Formats: sequence, C-alpha cells, structure tokens
Amino acid sequence: MIEIKSLTIQELKQEMTEMGEKPFRAGQIFKWLHEGVESFEEMSNLSKALRAKLAERFVLTVPQVVRRQVSQVDGTVKYLWRMRDGDCVESVLMHYEHGVSVCVSTQVGCRMGCKFCASGQNGLKRHLSAGEILDEILFMQKDSGEKVSNIVLMGTGEPLDNYDNVLKFLHLVSCPEGINIGQRHISLSTSGIADKIERLAGEKLQITLSVSLHAPDDETRSSIMPVNDAYSIERLMQACRYYFDTTGRRISYEYMMADGKTDRPWQAEKLAKLLRGRPGHVNLIPLNEVEESPLRPSRPEAVRRFQQALEKRGITATVRRRLGPDIDAACGQLRRRELQRQ
Ligand code: SF4
Repeated sequence: MIEIKSLTIQELKQEMTEMGEKPFRAGQIFKWLHEGVESFEEMSNLSKALRAKLAERFVLTVPQVVRRQVSQVDGTVKYLWRMRDGDCVESVLMHYEHGVSVCVSTQVGCRMGCKFCASGQNGLKRHLSAGEILDEILFMQKDSGEKVSNIVLMGTGEPLDNYDNVLKFLHLVSCPEGINIGQRHISLSTSGIADKIERLAGEKLQITLSVSLHAPDDETRSSIMPVNDAYSIERLMQACRYYFDTTGRRISYEYMMADGKTDRPWQAEKLAKLLRGRPGHVNLIPLNEVEESPLRPSRPEAVRRFQQALEKRGITATVRRRLGPDIDAACGQLRRRELQRQ
C-alpha cells in the first residue's frame, strides 16, 4: 500500500485520476493530511465512499508518543515517537524569541558513526520516508498546540544519506497548499558527504546548509568522524565553496567544543585560516556528554577563548545556547534508552 503522506499534491492528483475521482480532491486531502488527521474518517468534506476507497488504497501513518520530556528550565520538549513498524525516533521542540523551532530525525539510527553521538552507536536501521519526517512536525504541532516556524534537520540520521526522501520532504513541507514552512526557515545539517552537498547545490533550494566540521585538521576530525576518511577537510571545503557559488546561500559551520580534543588554541587558528574568505558563520556547540564516549565538554573559559580567537581573525562565531539542560538533551539518548529497555 502507498504511504499517502509521502505524496506531493501532483502525485495525489494523479492518484485521484487513476481512481476515477476529480483531481481537485487532491487539494482537499493534502490539506487534511497536513493538519495531522489520524484517520480518513476525519476528512469530513469527502464522501463516505471516497474515504473508504482511500483507506483501501493508502496507508495513513500516525506516530505514537512513547515518551515526552519537558524541560522545567525553558520549556523545551523532547519526543520519542513509535512509528508504524515499531521503530522509534526522536524530535525536539524548542522555544526561541523568533518562534518555535523543531529538530527532526531523518533516519532510524545512523551509519556515520560519529564518536560523540548517541544516535550512531547502534548503526542504521532504516531510512524514514518523506511522510514520516513530515509526521514528526505535524504531530509535534498537534501535541503542543503551537505553530512551528523553523525546522532543523539535525536529529538522528544523516539527511544526505537519505537523499531522495529528504528532498521530497523539503518540497512537501514548503508546499503552499500544506503546512507551508518556507525553505528559508529550514536548515539541513550534514556530517560532510561532499558529493551529496554538490548534488544538493544543483537543487537550487533556499534552505540553509549547516556543515558539522567539528575539527579543522584531518587527524582530529577522522578520529571523531569516520566520514572524514572518505571526504577529507579539503574535499569538504571544495564542496562547500561549490554550494555557495551555486546557491548564493551562506553556510553555517558547526563546531563541537570537546575538552583537549577540539578546543586547542592552534585549532582556533587553523579553523580561522580554513574559513577565511568563505561567507558563513561558526556555531560553537558545547559537547553533550554521551556514555561510552571518552569526550568531555570544553570548560566555559576555553569556549570563550576559542570564540575570541576566531573573532580576532575576522570569523563570526556564536556559542550555541544549551536548551533543555534538565532533560536528556543529547540526540539519540531517548531512543537508546528505549532500545536498552526492550
Ligand atoms: S552526529 Fe549525526 S551524522 Fe554523526 S552519527 Fe550522529 S546522527 Fe549520524
């Protein structure tokens, strides 16, 4: 059976024609789907007969909340969802001055194996479909009663490893007939799959690309991110240059601050040299501790010194505020707990 929420409005029109229905029904159905209906029965402006035909032909995915953690400090909400095949994924809803941001997963598990990450420690189980990624947003909106204004693809999974589904999701979520979140309000974070970054450039999207650099030298980067063995920093930077030249969109470089590993003064100097003349901006992220990883967060004064060293060399850098400090903030922790429990 076809997963209906993964269909674009054009594909839905095609389906309607094949079913002998009027194509305008596609717009009505699409709207219902993006409101987060949980059954075809709720589509009250469709005939009973059409609702029955839809239920025979399509699957309507509805993720179930397994766990919901709410931060008493800043209201950040972390969700663990169970998908229809029993797999679990995490999403986070955060409150900012400019609105509600959500961080969503794109895969069940991840094959990239970054050493500082809880999500990658059990490997990749499967890709999420475009509709399942969309579900995370629709159901966070429904559960919280809040309108999502920004999306970051920074949860579990490497979005560019699930390229086709993620691309389709980007089209679905920004479709004016649906939930309609503009691409300029969406960031896609990658561990640095250089050839896919170049392919993405060709899609001419308006999204922000966020590159997880985390170290300015190959030796350190390879020791914490195996992807660096396939795409060296030089190769990654070449892809980033191509991305900017093709799309005109500035890149955001994520840099994780790990004590004695990535926060040394020479690394600030090397990072500044690497990014000189590249339109973009650096986000310094205090590391979230993960069991089984020897990496520890940098001390606050080391983060400050690192930031000053970059700014002195003309590189704009901000320190990411830690949201939900009282809940399991590191991505993948909830799912890992659930796997251990099972
Ligand atoms: S940090 Fe991202 S890319 Fe790396 S293992 Fe975790 S989920 Fe995968």
